[in-house]
Amino acid sequence: MSLSPFPCAPSSSVRVAAAVRHAVATGLLGESGPVAGFVDTDGVRDSVAALHEAFAGVPGVLHTFAAKAASLVPVLRLLAECGMGCEVASPGELRIALDAGFAPSRIVLDSPAKTREEIRRALALGVALNADNLDEVDRIASLRPSNAASVVGLRVNPQVGGGSIGAMSTATATSKFGVALRDPGARELVVEAFAAHPWLTRLHAHVGSQGCSLELIAAGIGETYRLAEEINTVLGRRQITGLDIGGGLPVNFADDEVRPTFAAYAAALRAAVPGLFDGRYELVTEFGRSLLAKNGFIGALVEYTKDAGGRRIALTHAGAQTATRTVFMPDAWPLRVGAFGSDGRPKAGPSLVQDIAGPCCFAGDVVAHARELPELREGDYVVLYDTGAYYFSTPWAYNSLPRPAVYGFRTEAGPDGPSVRFAAVRDAQSLDSISAESGLAHADALLHFPS
Ligand SMILES: *Cc1c(COP(=O)(O)O)cnc(C)c1O
Repeated sequence: MSLSPFPCAPSSSVRVAAAVRHAVATGLLGESGPVAGFVDTDGVRDSVAALHEAFAGVPGVLHTFAAKAASLVPVLRLLAECGMGCEVASPGELRIALDAGFAPSRIVLDSPAKTREEIRRALALGVALNADNLDEVDRIASLRPSNAASVVGLRVNPQVGGGSIGAMSTATATSKFGVALRDPGARELVVEAFAAHPWLTRLHAHVGSQGCSLELIAAGIGETYRLAEEINTVLGRRQITGLDIGGGLPVNFADDEVRPTFAAYAAALRAAVPGLFDGRYELVTEFGRSLLAKNGFIGALVEYTKDAGGRRIALTHAGAQTATRTVFMPDAWPLRVGAFGSDGRPKAGPSLVQDIAGPCCFAGDVVAHARELPELREGDYVVLYDTGAYYFSTPWAYNSLPRPAVYGFRTEAGPDGPSVRFAAVRDAQSLDSISAESGLAHADALLHFPS
């Protein structure tokens, strides 16, 4: 179902193609900007609308966006305007969420290793926070003013098992996150903590990110729901009033289809945990990838091509600095690559098996291995699809490569095809900035130690 306001609005892939063509025509992509990230703002609005639609009729839901998936102030501000709250996991993410304009009451702090200072600040602001473990509950207890407005929850690990990517599975028996519920004695200690601290009113679980099935996620949330019911029964009062069910809806990176949908997720939850949606618990969600991945892409110039050992290699400007996970774990994080000509139009022609390499100085800097694509040439462009979350927004500073520029775009149907408008989201990093971040202010520091 299309939620777009235009009855014949261009589809997502048509919008991307139009944006590439326009970015090349206007020079946003080219010799002076050889790599950039792009955010489809109509797509973002549609995705947020689909999430709200999936939970329509459920009373008391706060949908937060996991800031780490697209840690860019203008993107966060757009999401705030669309009615989202924000999930943050570090002092930096909290700062940019506030700068983006989220009200503290709509922010949830989940940092895995909160310092005392971080806890004090969250409590002073009235930001909700989820303790990762029972020691942190004690710390919060010692720092919490009696009139604190912050909702405080406890993260649990339902230990329902992992998904297909170990590094993204947070509900394995030995995950570093939350209180491991099935460990001997853990459940009793959790109940005791709630008994001791009446201000502890929420349970939090985030089963995993990417690679976890809906059934696994629903099983983890079901465990968390049953624990809440048990605690409230044991305490003889409805102390737990909210459940934060995390994010983690997987994204299909294989083609354009949104699969699974937020509606399918809500249906799976409703089937597995019928009591969850009856309004007795305020719900918080924390989606990241599923809201942004399909609403962004990376465009990069092909600088050279070469043959080596019988393989064609395209040397582009998109590598590990902007597609870090894909380069280091190509099987877990494959990306679709599109080939575009020097005019910014999709290339046609017979396909050739090619490696798409990046600009970093290590041999493994390849974003796609042995891909069949129309033959790429110097001056062409490659597009890495579905990279709106966790890619260009969180670059890696290897080789002192600059953070790439990011642009938002909007498309409108017109008589001669879609028209495109761009807005700067983040400037490409300058050489001055790279030097400053490399300690320029302390250039002499190692020559003359202070006496
Ligand atoms: C990363 C994370 C999320 C978001 O995960 P997605 O897979 O991007 O939806 C939500 N909650 C917590 C606690 C996280 O660490």
